[in-house]
Amino acid sequence: MKIICIGRNYVEHAQELNNEVPDTPLFFMKPETAILRPGNDFFYPDFSKSVHYEVELVVRINKVGRHIQESFAHKYYNEIGLGIDFTARDLQSQLKAKGHPWEAAKAFDHSAAIGHFVRKDSVIQTDGSIPFSLKINDEVRQQSTSKLMIFSIDHIIAYVSRFVTLKIGDLIFTGTPKGVGEIEIGDHLQGFIGKQSFFDFYIW
Ligand code: ZN
Repeated sequence: MKIICIGRNYVEHAQELNNEVPDTPLFFMKPETAILRPGNDFFYPDFSKSVHYEVELVVRINKVGRHIQESFAHKYYNEIGLGIDFTARDLQSQLKAKGHPWEAAKAFDHSAAIGHFVRKDSVIQTDGSIPFSLKINDEVRQQSTSKLMIFSIDHIIAYVSRFVTLKIGDLIFTGTPKGVGEIEIGDHLQGFIGKQSFFDFYIW
């Protein structure tokens, strides 16, 4: 399986990092070894002094597809979860300045923390939105809703599948809202969709 991540999918997050708001989805990938499964803590890597948290809705693909039309994209996933796209922001800034790829800053081991997954109909509100939040040490640090995405989940699936075949079990991290920041050793991270807990772990 593979992990596809969308960058800059919320206007206020693009602005907080002084990035342009994109006119097409921006995506990058993490390998399978990036997954941090539920029940595991995150160990601060030695190659960075500024690891950021980015809470994101995560979609699990349940059908093989390429060149998927946006109107059919909803048939390619039925489960949603929540995850953290851990980012070595100091490394990423150096790589961006040189125009280099981001892998060292984004694709490292355990940089894709995930919680459990549920059927999508159980978290989509009547207005079509999915509200989610991240608490660190019991304080809300990020809180948003899928309504604020620049590119919808269906649009992302259609766009990415023009370039990369999606396979069963692939995960799509759909981008983070505003409020990203540094993690510290000892931090307690808890993720919620609505009021339901999706992950709960520590930084060591
Ligand atoms: Zn991200």
